[in-house]
Amino acid sequence: MDPLIRIGEQRTALSAVLFDKASRSRYLEKVHTQGERVLCLCHREGVPMGVALRDSTFYLYPLHHGDGQRHAPGCPHRTEASVTSGIIEHPVRIDGDTINIKIDGVIQKSGLAGSGKDRRMQQVPLETVHRRSTGLRTILDVLWNEGELNVWRPGFTGKRHYGVVRHHLLEASRNVRVKGHHLTDLLFIPPAFKPERSDVIERETTAYLQRRLPDESGRQTQGFVLGLVRDLELAKDGAIVIHLAHSRMALWVKKESWDGLSKIWFSQDLDATRPLMVLARVEGREGRRGSWLQVTDLATMPLVSYDTWLPSFGPEDSLLCEKLVQTCRAFRKPLGAERGNVPMPAYVLEDREDRMLIEIDTPRRRTMEAAYSLLKQPVTWVAPPFRESSLPTAD
Ligand SMILES: [Zn+2]
Repeated sequence: MDPLIRIGEQRTALSAVLFDKASRSRYLEKVHTQGERVLCLCHREGVPMGVALRDSTFYLYPLHHGDGQRHAPGCPHRTEASVTSGIIEHPVRIDGDTINIKIDGVIQKSGLAGSGKDRRMQQVPLETVHRRSTGLRTILDVLWNEGELNVWRPGFTGKRHYGVVRHHLLEASRNVRVKGHHLTDLLFIPPAFKPERSDVIERETTAYLQRRLPDESGRQTQGFVLGLVRDLELAKDGAIVIHLAHSRMALWVKKESWDGLSKIWFSQDLDATRPLMVLARVEGREGRRGSWLQVTDLATMPLVSYDTWLPSFGPEDSLLCEKLVQTCRAFRKPLGAERGNVPMPAYVLEDREDRMLIEIDTPRRRTMEAAYSLLKQPVTWVAPPFRESSLPTAD
């Protein structure tokens, strides 16, 4: 990838800027002396970069600790989170412009491994459920991150809705592979419902379900369904049916699986007034009542609101997020996928030259401070109720 670099108002290919010592001077000297803003445009929003002079040659360098992971996969400025712990393997690996995500279990089952084993499924230990579905949450984080849906600008007000979000998620999925499979081939996000397109939508939905059924040789490929939860229904046999907004597609969760999954992903303290996204790993089943999608794993991502589609990390986080949106701030919410092993605070205020990191003041502050000391950048603590006068101002 040869991203465009924005220097002031000018856009130039990175290769042209870095071509030789003379081109570096031509493009970067003015920036260095006059402090113009430099953005790497590998992503729509751009990642700010610094300019340094070393041995009479100009260089671009990352301004913040976490910036390396913000560049698009394949961008020469992209660097990976340092993996310091040998215990937990980071599930995300970048290979060229592809993001590989590791999850448990096989996606494609041969006819022999068959569903018989699966049908006898027993209660799964909670830690196994947790480990499995953490991989799915990573996929959600990666899609939100790469689709830049964790970024907010005042200009987005009134423009972010289901159709737009779906488009960004599908675009983001193009670079993602899950256990070697292209995510785009496996992923279904219900299209925004439009009465005039209902026939097309119906065909797409049916076709997706068909592809999840075993083929003649008994081979079956699992898929991933990502959608907005409309409601949950308790079926007669104790199974839970997850209904999605915009779609007739229903996701069936067996009672044995639901017990563990609901503890982790549908906990009591979820705010029912806020939207909830679900990513389910599914396989097709056929029976007397026709065919349906059976959920083998799932993960959820609560959102702050239908206006922002920003992920929420709890009631206080949602409150702070809404305050920032109301007061027309530009910010980003770092997600698990870019955190690596160094924790990132809740928000990065991007309407300030220093791109201040802010975190919510809670009783856990002391332990969190210790972790944030690894960032080599100060973190500003803000406390509820987050009055505008108590929040750091924009430049
Ligand atoms: Zn870049």
